[in-house]
Amino acid sequence: MADCIFCKIAAGEINAKIVYEDADAVAFLDLNPQAPTHVLLIPRRHIARLSDAQEADAELLGKLQLAAAKVARQLKLEAGCRLVTNNGRGAGQAVDHLHYHLLGGRKLLWPPG
Ligand code: AMP
Ligand code: ZN
Repeated sequence: MADCIFCKIAAGEINAKIVYEDADAVAFLDLNPQAPTHVLLIPRRHIARLSDAQEADAELLGKLQLAAAKVARQLKLEAGCRLVTNNGRGAGQAVDHLHYHLLGGRKLLWPPG
């Protein structure tokens, strides 16, 4: 999608520190990390947010969770990590391309703010 920064990162048109990629997903370091490890995991295909996902996206969503598990293993987050998506402005979503935050490397509090 034109003018979507995460589509541009997935296409290699904007630089990012990529930590994992496969045919369906890309994971890269967040520019403004909220934990010692803060990775963003996106589908290559543009979906604006989780609540826009359809039945036809079931396989892709499953692959994203498996990719998150792979990245967590790769980055040695076995002590604990969190996978979260902000869905909509009220939840703090600033970039309208589905992304999961993978956070780790420190004690994570619950509930999040
Ligand atoms: P959200 O608020 O859930 O939409 O998260 C958007 C995240 O994207 C924020 O944590 C930003 O720091 C991060 N971000 C925005 N632009 C970039 C970029 N070009 N490279 C890496 N992370 C980015
Ligand atoms: Zn996009």
